[in-house]
Formats: sequence, C-alpha cells, structure tokens
Amino acid sequence: MILTYKIKHNRDFSDELAKAKQVAEYGIKYRTRSSKDVKHIGLNSAISNQILKKYANDKTAKKVTSVKLTIPNQKIELRRNERTIRIIPLNLTLKYHFPDNFEKINQIEVGEKYVYVSVTVPEREQIEPDNYLGVDLNTTGHIAVMSNPKTGKIWKLGKKALHTHLKYKNNRKKLQLKGKYKKVKQVKDRESRIVRDLNHKISSKIVETAASNNSGIRMENLKGIRDSARCKKSFKYSLHSWSFYQLQFMLEYKARLLGVKIEFINPEYTSQDCSRCGYLGIRNGDAFECPHCGHVDHADANAAFNIAMRSGDQCGADRDASYGSTGAPQVATV
Ligand SMILES: [Zn+2]
Repeated sequence: MILTYKIKHNRDFSDELAKAKQVAEYGIKYRTRSSKDVKHIGLNSAISNQILKKYANDKTAKKVTSVKLTIPNQKIELRRNERTIRIIPLNLTLKYHFPDNFEKINQIEVGEKYVYVSVTVPEREQIEPDNYLGVDLNTTGHIAVMSNPKTGKIWKLGKKALHTHLKYKNNRKKLQLKGKYKKVKQVKDRESRIVRDLNHKISSKIVETAASNNSGIRMENLKGIRDSARCKKSFKYSLHSWSFYQLQFMLEYKARLLGVKIEFINPEYTSQDCSRCGYLGIRNGDAFECPHCGHVDHADANAAFNIAMRSGDQCGADRDASYGSTGAPQVATV
C-alpha cells in the first residue's frame, strides 16, 4: 500500500514553486521531457525532470494552477536511526514522526507549507476470520463501541471526545468574542491534534484486537443515512464531522495493513432489534429492552452485538479513501 504523510516544512519556497509552474507550462506547450530545454528557468534539473515527466505527457493538461516540487527517490537521503529525511536539491532536512514500518520512500512533493512523503508500506495478506467483532460508530456517548459476540465482551472507546469538543468549542467562542482570531485558529489546531491522536488510539485498539482474535470487523455502511443518524442531538462526534471520517479512514487502512477483513452491513434496525432473540425491542435513550425475551442491555452494546452478527452483504468497494487534509495519510493502491 502507498501512504502519503505530510510534514510542515517552515521554509519559503515561493521562488522555486513559481519556477516549477513555469517548467510545467513549458512542458505542456512544447511537449518536451528534457530538462535541458528548461535550463533557462533556473530550477534544479532533477526537479524539472520530474515535473516535465508529469506534465509533458499529460495530453489533458492545458493550464496549470499550482505545481508542487517533485523530488525523485534518488535525491532523497533517508536516515532511519535519526528519523530524518534530507531533500538534497532543496537542502532541506526534516524530522519524520510517522511509523517507521515503510519499505521505501517513493517520492516527495513539496508545496507551499507542507512536504508530502509517499512511502510504500507492506500489507499483510487478508486473514479469513473465525468470527466478527461489531464496531458501532453511531453511538450515544462514545466514539466507538465494540463487541465480541463469542465472549460477550464490550469495549466502550473514546468517552472523553465529547467533553474535549465542548471544552474547545467554548474556548473558541470566548476568544472569538474578544476578536482574538489567531488564538481561535491555534485552539482549533490543538483540538484537531487531540482528536487525531484519539482516533489513532481507537482505530489501533480495534484493529489490533481483531487481529489478535483472528476476527474480522463488521461496521454499518453509513453512507446515505447520515440525516437519519440515531443520536444527532445527544452526541456531537457526529456523522457529519471530519473526525468521524478520519476514524473510519484510519480503521480501513490499518485493517489493510494487518490483513483484517472489514465488512459493511446494512444499518437498518441495528439499534432496534434484540441481539438475543432477533425480535424488535424497545429503545429508550441509552436503554434497550426486549418485550419478547426480556433481554435488557445498554442500547449501544445491543447495537454493537447486532452489527457483529449481521452478515455482510454490502462490501466497501465503492468507498472513497481520500478525505482531504485530515492529517491522516492518504491511501492509494499500489
Ligand atoms: Zn429479545
């Protein structure tokens, strides 16, 4: 699998980026792939080569808006023991904090603010699961509730999220009223980092639990039902938010890395059906009660068991794996 990580570079490359644009325009106009032809522009020839390779052959490219500086693998020095990457043509050394499990760096793109590092990460072959863990992301108070129907165990993950969100939202409001907009942005960034960390922890916990139990993961296919979300009002880690997509995205790529199968199931009645007898029960806020068999449970736990036991007839093939700049790496197939 190819993952792309971004790192902030804190350098001004506006001159080089402007030249890169000129090189791309030249490449489109004259369809040349030789960096000698664009020597007069004055961009490093290894970078020019990469840009020409991309644009000169692209028959659909007519106009370019922004061009990143593309650095080929041969011009990158990787020092794993120091966890640094040196981009030789730009004389730029960066520390990386992403996992060191990649095989190699494919290439690096440098933009105005960020460096995008594309790496190849080994994928494990998908394991045929013995059973499934149900993961409910549409809960009343947690980020995720996971169930193992084989043992009856329930994990409630990420209770702090709502509290964190409200605290930061409050802080932002106060600062906004005082007109401190720079501070507002800082607070927002801090919240994003906290949520991302939390999403990383939760997704790892779920995928690693599944891997160590030889289990697959079942989740609801929540596409298209966002407006009828179960608990829009009570919980703001909502299905609309980037944090939700980020978590789902992390779950999917981490599962692929460990060979854990994910199935998406039809979300209808996962919160109303009784997980013990299958009949329609009564849901009242956090509480679930079944008038047929007498089963009483927390509503989220009941739903998580239903999800685990419902067979997956909907696969995730049509799912979109790129969610913009969420801070999580982007996935592309090799
Ligand atoms: Zn029942």
